[in-house]
Amino acid sequence: MDSGRWLAALVDSSDDAIVGKSLDGVVTSWNAGATRVFGYTPNEAIGQSINFLSLPGDEAKMESLLETVRQGGRVDHFEASRRHKSGKEVAISLSLTPIFGNNGKIIGIAKIARDITERKALEESRGAEERRLRALSEKETTERAAASAERRFWDLIDSAPDAILQIGPSGEILVCNRAAKEMFGRTDKELEAIEIEAVVPEANRARHTDVRHRERAGKDPGTKPAIDLYGLHKDGTQFPVSVSFSRQGDGNGPNVTAVIRDITERKASEQRVRRLQESYMAELEARRKDAESSNTLKDEFISRASHELRTPLHTIIGFSDLLAEEVNGLLNPKQKKFLEHIQHDAEHLLGLIDDILDLNRGSAGALSLYTASLSLLDAVTEAVDSIRLHAKSRSVSLRKGDHLDVRVTADPMRLRQILYNLLNNAVKFTGAGSEVLVDATLEGDMVKITVSDTGIGIAPEECALIFQTFYQAGVKAAEPREGTGLGLAICRQLVEMQGGTIWVDSELYKGSQFHFTLPLSV
Ligand code: ADP
Repeated sequence: MDSGRWLAALVDSSDDAIVGKSLDGVVTSWNAGATRVFGYTPNEAIGQSINFLSLPGDEAKMESLLETVRQGGRVDHFEASRRHKSGKEVAISLSLTPIFGNNGKIIGIAKIARDITERKALEESRGAEERRLRALSEKETTERAAASAERRFWDLIDSAPDAILQIGPSGEILVCNRAAKEMFGRTDKELEAIEIEAVVPEANRARHTDVRHRERAGKDPGTKPAIDLYGLHKDGTQFPVSVSFSRQGDGNGPNVTAVIRDITERKASEQRVRRLQESYMAELEARRKDAESSNTLKDEFISRASHELRTPLHTIIGFSDLLAEEVNGLLNPKQKKFLEHIQHDAEHLLGLIDDILDLNRGSAGALSLYTASLSLLDAVTEAVDSIRLHAKSRSVSLRKGDHLDVRVTADPMRLRQILYNLLNNAVKFTGAGSEVLVDATLEGDMVKITVSDTGIGIAPEECALIFQTFYQAGVKAAEPREGTGLGLAICRQLVEMQGGTIWVDSELYKGSQFHFTLPLSV
């Protein structure tokens, strides 16, 4: 067999469409495969422009492929669609190869078109199947996610320590969690078969229903505080609960969710705290009474003791005065010295007892005042005169200021006592040759009376302390000191009882100004 006929037989027996074309696209050969793929006989096809197979809009693409081949290139397995004679679309895989003439020039184009319609259809249906499977699995995943979200939600509700119940419009229990079942001792079936009021003791039902209805009707908008009620266990036991209601759904048939907490423990501890408080208060009251009665005892003791001490003291003072007068015989110098000691210390003791009595009366509220409108100048003059001798003995001069001519409301005896105390201190704590001045200034409806000295002064940190009982500035416990440390405490008590205040301005080694106020009298 010569090679030409062998080739022709080979071409004809091919399943693929093998088509020869001139360079400008006119069909020059058409094998049996082409007839099968495209439906046209060789007679119908040969001599036609190859475009008769193209689908509308494909020409431009075809032209560019032909141009590739005209340039000597090849096109392999280009997938395209062509029109079958019957009008159906045929999917083909296209290979184009240039045909060279003897002179080596391209004289035509060989086109092999394989019908891939079935393969395409197969691919298509496989794709559709894959898509369907994918969609199925996506649906399953979404459903599974939704189911797991719901499960998680229920796990959450079930693990809540509080009982949670959803209640329908007429009180029926729609949903309950694990805590609810445990709290009321019922299964979910049992709970779902009863109305909510069945788990509330009879006495509480009306209130419960009322609150639930109000919540359902949305009458109390906003957050509501939980209310304390009682719960009823299946076995009949009652227990305190705190219930908070919230409303869901629209106006037609809103449901109410009740979150219920067993507050037995809380109530019990509240009770314990209350009982503790009560017993604490009772104890406090008992102690207060104790303190009161022991205070009264102390006051009584001090006043009795003071009186008992004063009687023999007066005897000592009286007889030592008599001895000092030497009516019953002269005393030798040594005896006189001893007598002076006895007199001095007896007077001191008497002063101390009087001070203690005063303080005690003051703190017990037993010190009576007889206030009147009186001349400040008169009171100061009296006090200054009574201390003048003592001041002179210490070479301290006393001076009355120019502003004392005012009237004050005070108890004359107590005012003299205050002035005497302050003047006495001023003289006591001032060196020889210095001056003590008493003056006054008006301050609104009060008169400020000031006793100034140029003595040793008081350290700033001690200025407030010296008004306390028994406080003596700059004195160490072991050091003996003239005085009792009671004078200023008594002064403060007396000034305050008359509606005034007392304080000191002082500078160490420069001197002090003791001020106190009394109401101005008009
Ligand atoms: P005492 O009997 O000791 O004088 P007071 O209560 O009268 O008691 O005074 C308390 C203390 O205040 C005194 O011991 C003294 O340290 C101090 N004090 C009082 N007045 C003066 C003053 N004018 N100058 C310096 N210190 C004073």
